[in-house]
Amino acid sequence: MGEETQIARAARKQAIRRKAQRRHSHFYERFSHWSFCNHADAEPIRWHRERWMLAGTAMLITALSGFIIPAWASAMRPDPAPAAHTMLPLALPKALPTTVHAPTVEDWHIVQVQPGQTLSDIFQSQGLSLTDLQRVMDEARDAKALHNIHPGQEFDFLLGSDGSLRGIRFDKDESNRAIVRFDGDKPTMTAQTREVERREHVVHGSIDSSLFAAGSKAGMSNAMVLKLAELFKYDIDFVQDLREGDSFTVIYDDVYRDGAYLHEGEIVAAEFVNQGDRYTAYRFKKDDGSYGWFSEDGRPIQKSFLRIPVDFTRISSQFSAARMHPILGRMRAHQGVDYAAPTGTPIHAAGDGVVKFKGWMNGYGNFVIIQHNSSISTAYGHMSKFANVKLGQHVSQGSVIGFVGMTGLATGPHLHYEFRVNNVQRDPQKVTLPKPEPLPGVQLAKFKSQVVQPQLARLKALDANVKLARASGRNDD
Ligand SMILES: [Zn+2]
Repeated sequence: MGEETQIARAARKQAIRRKAQRRHSHFYERFSHWSFCNHADAEPIRWHRERWMLAGTAMLITALSGFIIPAWASAMRPDPAPAAHTMLPLALPKALPTTVHAPTVEDWHIVQVQPGQTLSDIFQSQGLSLTDLQRVMDEARDAKALHNIHPGQEFDFLLGSDGSLRGIRFDKDESNRAIVRFDGDKPTMTAQTREVERREHVVHGSIDSSLFAAGSKAGMSNAMVLKLAELFKYDIDFVQDLREGDSFTVIYDDVYRDGAYLHEGEIVAAEFVNQGDRYTAYRFKKDDGSYGWFSEDGRPIQKSFLRIPVDFTRISSQFSAARMHPILGRMRAHQGVDYAAPTGTPIHAAGDGVVKFKGWMNGYGNFVIIQHNSSISTAYGHMSKFANVKLGQHVSQGSVIGFVGMTGLATGPHLHYEFRVNNVQRDPQKVTLPKPEPLPGVQLAKFKSQVVQPQLARLKALDANVKLARASGRNDD
């Protein structure tokens, strides 16, 4: 009992210390984009901010005494001052007195994993032996966190006055902390659940120069903007299709642990209006426990087929009923599209399917056919070589099946791509691609009532606010 409260007290103290540290680092992470949005000399200012943070109390006293400040102020650039002031309230929270009451304080030593370090390096740096490491491993053998350590991860050590290992604690995963103690009758491992919380943000942006600029203006990190672009990449070509006036509304979350920022979360719901067309994506936890993103009608965001299965430089020949064949020198239908690309460029499976043919085919050279369902197949010709796929193998959309070349009848390296419906070639650029199947009945109903309805209301509410703000002439959008 006594030991338990002691552990709890120590843990609380630890949590407070970490909270302060994390808030601190969170600040820089969140606002790091300022440094490249603004001027290049932001770096030294940030250093000053950091010192303000670390020396919070000392600076406060200094500020109160009031006579050193003018000297400092002249040494610093004046413009960042407002930002620095907003930092002060972030210094240690009200909970501080609880640590003062703690009668005994265990001196846990926090060690942060450096790049290239192994767990045994860390143990040795604490004057511990491989036997100690083995004891920990024996006690916490199911903890994956010990088998795959990464830089930045923390291990806290409790050492006896003789330098012997009395305890170690570490994060097993995002929300679970393991505490292994060796100072009792026998080794013990206890788990401590940490409060993990997702905080949501609702933002709206309007494109005037670039997606990144708009995202940044709306308060999104570049990583979150990339996630947004990734969600809509099947519908919108962000390089060619984006127009001034396009807009987006996004609900996304950030992950906090014990009240401190831990890492970026995911997009919960998003709406993108591109050239007047509206696209939506909602996160939904499927019956199998995995998450997926679905449009408002419950169809997966990811389409069944990639329109173009290769990163091409130009279209060297379109689909046509009849054209002059460049090698044969006579009129012949061209039943696919030729995408010119350098030899060796990877070719991707346009959709999920099974490899129905892999080998040499007259004219086509090295050739692959993928059967996607009972009626649709796609074909890929002139490959320089095949990827490591076997006949009959299942391939998923986007997986590499071969590489661009000019085997067979070809005048230069390109992919000859065919889209066949019931073995008849259709124009891959124009054929209506089948829509992916929506969620099955029960899940669809759940998706609509539990996800779309509430999230759509939030998206609409923000849209309405933005419009209202525009109408009333506020220019803070
Ligand atoms: Zn061709």
